[in-house]
Amino acid sequence: MNIVVCVKQVPDTNEVKIDPKKGTLIREGVPSIMNPDDKNALEEALRLKDENGARVTVITMGPPQAEAVLREAIAMGADDTVLITDRAFAGADTLATSNALAGALRKLDYDIIFAGRQAIDGDTAQVGPGIAEHLGIAQVTYVEEVKVEGDFLKVRRALEDGYEMLEVKTPCLLTAIDTLNEPRYMNMGEIFNTFEKEVKVWNADDIDVDKSVLGLKGSPTKVKRSWPKETKGKGEIVELPTKEAAALALSKLKEKHYI
Ligand SMILES: Cc1cc2nc3c(=O)[nH]c(=O)nc-3n(C[C@H](O)[C@H](O)[C@H](O)COP(=O)(O)OP(=O)(O)OC[C@H]3O[C@@H](n4cnc5c(N)ncnc54)[C@H](O)[C@@H]3O)c2cc1C
Repeated sequence: MNIVVCVKQVPDTNEVKIDPKKGTLIREGVPSIMNPDDKNALEEALRLKDENGARVTVITMGPPQAEAVLREAIAMGADDTVLITDRAFAGADTLATSNALAGALRKLDYDIIFAGRQAIDGDTAQVGPGIAEHLGIAQVTYVEEVKVEGDFLKVRRALEDGYEMLEVKTPCLLTAIDTLNEPRYMNMGEIFNTFEKEVKVWNADDIDVDKSVLGLKGSPTKVKRSWPKETKGKGEIVELPTKEAAALALSKLKEKHYI
């Protein structure tokens, strides 16, 4: 079985602060990490490899320094890695990003493609489903359990108030959530060897995708402006008898459509 995992390098958003004057993100000194849901996706691929045998390839699109997440993936147990990097990919929105990744995936063998549900920086949860659409394969999102049964997978998909059990034929794309598993640590003995392993590097000419659907050119959406959320002012203190205080609280909550 061939499994490809899409992994994104993201800034650790717990550490990102906003410049109050410019309204831009302060990224200096912010560590880059493997996107958390992608770690669950990779863990599931490695678990399937441990149990059934599989070749696990990890792919990322990003600047040259995104190679670091691929080395981390190798230290966790990935067999092959591909970095797709090119100025032509810059400024991509989710459509252009999924077009580029789908182009690279067409060059790889896959029975299952894993992605994370969502990246903690862009936060759209659109790239996984976008890739499946471009490739014309089935997709299951919010995956919290996977069982292999021949050419089919039995997949448990989380819903807001429960779950559904689905049967899906391979090849297919699954997006992972954090309840899927507990990601393993990097193998301590392998960390040094990891730096000797090959990371394939592909540019826009190496993937079979029309350049007009890549990067800024291929992006139907553009970020026009971004700004930090306004912080709430001081709370209002009122002194009223209990019943009137409750009525006032109720009317304020109704006014804001909370209830
Ligand atoms: C309107 C708009 C404009 C943008 N403009 C720019 C821009 O000018 N420059 C810029 O750098 N970014 C830009 N971005 C951000 C960029 O499009 C997103 O970071 C990227 O498309 C991934 O989307 P996301 O972070 O929401 O990921 P999600 O859709 O939340 O990610 C889901 C999963 O898809 C996979 N995935 C996502 N991205 C990658 C990747 N790069 N490599 C491998 N796997 C991946 C991962 O498995 C991830 O868990 C823009 C985003 C939007 C919405």
